[in-house]
Amino acid sequence: MSGNEARVQAIFQITNREPMEVATPDPLSKIWACNVFNLAKMEESLSKNAFKEIKKTVQTGVPLDPATADLVAAAMKEWALSKGVKFFSHIFFPLTNITAEKHDGFIITNPDGAAITEFTGSLLIKGEPDGSSFPNGSLRMTNAARGYTAWDPTSPVYVMETANGSTLMIPSVFMSWTGESLDKKIPLLRSNAAMDEAAQKVLSLMGETDIAPLNSSCGAEQEYFLVDSNFANARPDLLLAGRSLFGAAPAKGQEFDDHYFGAIPERVQVFMQDFEDQLYKLGIPAKTHHNEVAPGQFEIAPYFEAANVAADHQQLMMTIIKTTAKKHGFHALLHEKPFAGINGSGKHVNWSVGNSTQGNLLDPGNTPHKNLNFLLFCGAVIRGVHLYGPLLRAVIASAANDHRLGANEAPPAILSVYLGDQLEAVYEDIKAGKLTSSNSGGIMDSGLSQILTFSRDPGDRNRTSPFAFTGNRFEFRAVGSSQSVSGPLVAMNTMLADSLNWIAEKLEVELGKGADQANAVITVLKELMELHGNVVFGGDGYSTDWHKAAVEERGLKNIPTTADALPALNEDYIVKLFESTGVLSPVELASRYEVYSEQYVLSIEVEAKLVVDMATTLIYPAAITYLSDLSVTNAGMADMDIELDNSVAKTVAAEANAMMAGVSKLSVALEKHDFASTDEHMSFLADTVRGLMDEVRVHADELEGKVADDLWPLPKYQEMLFIK
Ligand code: ADP
Ligand code: MG
Repeated sequence: MSGNEARVQAIFQITNREPMEVATPDPLSKIWACNVFNLAKMEESLSKNAFKEIKKTVQTGVPLDPATADLVAAAMKEWALSKGVKFFSHIFFPLTNITAEKHDGFIITNPDGAAITEFTGSLLIKGEPDGSSFPNGSLRMTNAARGYTAWDPTSPVYVMETANGSTLMIPSVFMSWTGESLDKKIPLLRSNAAMDEAAQKVLSLMGETDIAPLNSSCGAEQEYFLVDSNFANARPDLLLAGRSLFGAAPAKGQEFDDHYFGAIPERVQVFMQDFEDQLYKLGIPAKTHHNEVAPGQFEIAPYFEAANVAADHQQLMMTIIKTTAKKHGFHALLHEKPFAGINGSGKHVNWSVGNSTQGNLLDPGNTPHKNLNFLLFCGAVIRGVHLYGPLLRAVIASAANDHRLGANEAPPAILSVYLGDQLEAVYEDIKAGKLTSSNSGGIMDSGLSQILTFSRDPGDRNRTSPFAFTGNRFEFRAVGSSQSVSGPLVAMNTMLADSLNWIAEKLEVELGKGADQANAVITVLKELMELHGNVVFGGDGYSTDWHKAAVEERGLKNIPTTADALPALNEDYIVKLFESTGVLSPVELASRYEVYSEQYVLSIEVEAKLVVDMATTLIYPAAITYLSDLSVTNAGMADMDIELDNSVAKTVAAEANAMMAGVSKLSVALEKHDFASTDEHMSFLADTVRGLMDEVRVHADELEGKVADDLWPLPKYQEMLFIK
């Protein structure tokens, strides 16, 4: 068997690929949320009183009394059993970007040996997985491993179907025996509460009397790649690291921009429709899908929802992309940079805050009163990004996302805010005090009327900004495609809470001095813009001029790698931010730093070991086989008195040697373990190991361009990206 058998087989298989046969899809009305135990289903199956209680809990998070919990659990069980479900599972979100489940049967046996089913309120409310194997960042010793999952009633329970059975899934939080958060959901719920409390203060000062609880909303656009599974299976790097660690650039990349919004290949279209039907069944509002910039890259965006539900749905969506892709003979890559030289994948997190009485507070609106609220909330965001930019950078930091940020395709690693020309002008005016002299009636004249225009026409987009205002929300564009949206949402809600608290304090002082509302707002925002206006930037975020000016003139931070970004979580002002808002205690925050840095270390080490392994066992042998073929041929030719040009052989030999020299250096680097601190270990990986991995790759990719095609063991970029 030749060294490239896997690749040849893959190409052979793919040549005969057809779109998967699918049954005629059911209409939306039939499948929408059919697997979700939502309020509508609860109303059907519960008494009036019980429904009233649970509805209050679902909508506002107030605790549920045990008796009602029993009733809800019983109704849930009946509904699930009617769908053929035998197991239930609390589903929770540990500090990795994955979801975790522990399945339990409804079954119990009675003394006669008969099987009956049981599901009580207490089983619904509390679970107890042995959590010791989940990352906890020193929050628990393994000998004190007790962890609890607890039902989060604000996110609906659902049934997850598999081919021969289904499971009732119960969205849950995950905490230690001592009550510390070990998950991504608890801080999200807390950050929302902190934001609500601060927003209530500001809105009250603004004279609002009827103020419903505020919630943050999130709509996340998910980018991903699809590669035929035959190719993926022949690439250990795609399977184990989620990205290609080797691969020469194809003759045709994305230069022609012919993939973006192009016709979706039929096989992919069939996959998407199947995938989206599954989302619909789970009540996930899939809204748009299209080709993305790179060949083989696609995007799906659901309609926005309450942040907590959106985060759960986002997580579920990532799981379903992968399983459905598999079913259709694809391998889905959610990695931020699966292929060098072409665009990576992000997850734009669209975020706004609002309630049922004041509406979306990041919508410029069309009455002066609303606009003042808007100006305050938008100002609060500006202050938040300026003060806590390093936190925003830290929550999107990962070994994988480091490949995107700062490369010329994704937002730079400098956090700035894009407002759009018109809004930028309004805040410039405020900063210059131009509106200060206007009385409250006059405020609408120049500046505020511009906002009205803005709300009708969101103006241009700025694809180079990491944090952009897009008409009625902010879009955090630097989030990575494989990341949970929870971290970014927690950071945004918390920084907003802090800013709104600051604004409330200042407003109270101004109003206390007798200033009218409009003048008080302008005074506070003027101070805010003087302190934080530096973060507003509407130009080209990719340009080297900006990189220089941002740091030298504006005092913003350029934070290129995860090794540089994560230590922000240990900074006093970040610890204070989370402690003062009640979102994370210092211990909880410290544990997050530990877990995330450990993940960074692990993922680079896995990649580096794979580089060593693949270079040694796949690529070097191909080069040697080719050299040996060439020398046999040469000898034969010499017999016939023909002298062949042996420059190719020389290059192959030189590159193979250089590659193996690189492998040696990398192996030595991986042996180093005597680091004084985690920070030092991370820096070593970022500054040294990454470079050594690249060095090996350069030579391997050279070899790919020289070694005979029929000997090359790994599917090539042009094959993975273009064959459908
Ligand atoms: P684009 O590609 O133009 O940014 P998309 O339609 O792909 O737009 O995605 C925009 C996302 O923003 C969607 O998920 C959408 O539901 C969401 N969105 C729209 N309005 C809001 C809002 N007020 N708050 C949060 N998300 C929003
Ligand atoms: Mg977008």
